[in-house]
Amino acid sequence: MKERILIVEDEAAIAMTIRDRLESEGYDPSIAADGDTGFRRASTEPWALIVLDVMLPGRDGLTVCRDLRGREIDTPVLMLTAKDQTLDKVLGLKIGADDYLTKPFDMAELLARVEALLRRSRRTSNGAQTDTIGPFVLDVDRQELQGDGRAIPLSTQEFKLLRYLCEHRGAVVDRDELLAAVWGYDGSTYTRTVDVHISWLRQKLGDSRAQRLIATVRGRGYRLMP
Ligand code: CA
Repeated sequence: MKERILIVEDEAAIAMTIRDRLESEGYDPSIAADGDTGFRRASTEPWALIVLDVMLPGRDGLTVCRDLRGREIDTPVLMLTAKDQTLDKVLGLKIGADDYLTKPFDMAELLARVEALLRRSRRTSNGAQTDTIGPFVLDVDRQELQGDGRAIPLSTQEFKLLRYLCEHRGAVVDRDELLAAVWGYDGSTYTRTVDVHISWLRQKLGDSRAQRLIATVRGRGYRLMP
């Protein structure tokens, strides 16, 4: 059965572009053009995923997300935020959005994130607690990497960082996003911290130019290879 995706977005051109692309990828998308309609449909119909814009007439996207979580509706939410609205991103993650994408974005990026979120929610419903990274398996219960017949312990930050990359496998995640997700964005850490932890992770993974597991995307961030 096709997975149903709700697109809550008032800008018709953007909403239709997303809908057409999702449709051509084999999903069953549907559009709600304001926050109240979005909330009503999100809370009364079954969806595999909700793409939710922040700026909406009626209830805004952040409120829609908070209200859904308040009703214990845990459908994955991909939030669309305006450029440089860091507050929206952090707030969005805090009130229960699963991921966000900054406008303008390209459709390939949106698809990568939709795929990653759906994979994650299918996996959660299967109860599996491992991820593979190249020749390694990330053991979520033990917070360690296993591979080559050995176990490599990870610090809490390394573990959270790698987990986040796994959950967004194939998508480019920027440093601010990693800071917010791993360190909580309290203002006392710097994007350089992310780079340092990525380099430690690469060492542990034996990641090299010849065999890239975590790619650097110049000027943007990092991407865990699919
Ligand atoms: Ca909008």
